[in-house]
Formats: sequence, structure tokens, C-alpha cells
Amino acid sequence: MGPLTSPSVIREVMERHGVTFTKALGQNFLINPSVCPRMARLGGAGPGVGVLEIGPGAGVLTAQLAQMADRVVAVELDGRLLPVLAETLAEYENIKVIHGDALKLDLGRLLREEFGAMPVVVCANLPYYITSPLVMALLEQRLPVESVTVMVQKEAAQRICAGPGTRQASALGVAVAYYSAPKLLFSVSRGSFLPAPEVDSAVIRLDIRKAPDEARFFAVVRGAFQQRRKTVLNSLSAALDIPKEALGPVLAAAGVPQNARAEALSLEDFAAIAGGLGSPGA
Ligand code: SAM
Repeated sequence: MGPLTSPSVIREVMERHGVTFTKALGQNFLINPSVCPRMARLGGAGPGVGVLEIGPGAGVLTAQLAQMADRVVAVELDGRLLPVLAETLAEYENIKVIHGDALKLDLGRLLREEFGAMPVVVCANLPYYITSPLVMALLEQRLPVESVTVMVQKEAAQRICAGPGTRQASALGVAVAYYSAPKLLFSVSRGSFLPAPEVDSAVIRLDIRKAPDEARFFAVVRGAFQQRRKTVLNSLSAALDIPKEALGPVLAAAGVPQNARAEALSLEDFAAIAGGLGSPGA
């Protein structure tokens, strides 16, 4: 079989299995050969790593991930694509395709059963209609994953990556910033897909924060604002009863200047301080 980024190869294998592209399922398959290797590499696929993919389609990204990572589990909703994937991914022994709806599956259980203690990243070219619910489900369930690297519509990427305090800030963006450090990696033009969608896309990576527990996060927020005219160092030290000598290095590690006041801190700053206070030795 020729490369899976070749439109004629994809069309041929789909036709042979009687599958047509279904717009309602967001079926736009990648045909730009440079995108999958870049996405897999920047998404953290590598030796010793497991990858969860949502929506393998005809398997173009799945194959790339399997070449770089130890194990790939791909969840595909469209049952018609299963025989296609069985053919296109036949040479890989480290891939498991699961027929299911990523929004309905118990992903925590799936990760435990499929990957055990292996570090796991999520890497997927998402069907656009599930972007928000899926990203939020992945984050809110506090799944044991290191990062989530996904292709989404460019506008959604910009919204998701616009943190609190920016003009483009949105509820989704603030929630994403609470759970992760988001980064827009690169843009992908609409011509990189078969069929071509109406808008351009972009790949984003969300590095999951080592979750400060919520109680600690809000204790830090309250403590920082308790004496808002004072520096965060002084206010927090008094509110949380932590000596300044111990708190100083935590602020430094979080990138917060010693003389900063609470109102100047971003949501990420609060989360980083809370995370630092929870780490061993702090
Ligand atoms: N990964 C392939 C690629 O990059 O060429 C296909 C990506 S395509 C944008 C999205 C894929 O997600 C389709 O194969 C579609 O059938 C599948 N899909 C749609 N909704 C899904 C859901 N709720 N759960 C799992 N897969 C889904």
C-alpha cells in the first residue's frame, strides 16, 4: 500500500471497504506528510511512552505514533473504519483500536487497563464537534496523562490558548489554564486535509499541571489577597504561616517576583505557587 497521506491511497482503501467521508463525524483526514511526524514528536510520543489517540480515521497519525511510542490505543466511533484500520495498521503490533465514543467511555479505566503505570500522552486530530467537551473531559477527570496534544480549528486553538486576562479569554480558556499550561504549537492549512474543511486548523499542546489540590489552590488565592497592599510573599507567609525563607524559593520557582502583589498574579502563577507548596520539601 502507498502512503496514507496520499489522497488516492485513502480513497482507494475507503472505497474498497464501502466507507464514505461523514462530515457529521468531523471526518477530515490528514494528507500533509509533514504534519503527523511533527505532531507526534511535539506531542511527546517516544520510547517508554503510551499514547491515547481519539479518532484514528484511516490511521495516518496512529501509524506515526506507533513508530515512535511503545504502545498506542486509538478510540474510533465509526465502526465502518475498523476494517480499514485493520488493513492500514496491519504491520504494527503495538496498536490497539477500540470501537467506542470517546465522550462516553470511562477513559480513566481504559488508561489503567491499557497502559498500567506507563507514562501516557494524548495525541489526536480531533473531530471539531467534540473539541470543547472532550478537552474538558480529559482535564476535569484528572486523567493520569502528561499532556494533551490535539489538532483543533484554528479559532478554537486561539481561544483555548488565550489565558485569563486577555481579550480573547473565554470560560474554556480559563478552565484549560487552570488544569494545564496550554501552548499553540503550529498552524495547519485547510488544504492539508481530505476533504478540505472550511477553516484552517492548529495543533495545541496542554501540559497537565501536577494538580495542586483545589483546597490548596484557593488557600493560596485567599492568602495572597488577604493583605493585598503587601507583597504576596508577606501576605502568604502570614496567612499560611509559612516562613518567608521557605516561601521565597517557591515563588522563585513559580516565576513570581518577590515584590509582586496579588492583583498582578495570573491564574497560572497561583496554580504554580500552590503546586510548589505541595511538592516534597516545600
Ligand atoms: N486521525 C485521522 C487523521 O488525522 O487523518 C482522522 C481524524 S478526523 C478529524 C476525526 C476522527 O474522529 C474520525 O475518524 C471520526 O470518525 C472520529 N470520531 C468522531 N467522533 C468521535 C468520538 N466521539 N469518539 C471517537 N472518535 C470519533
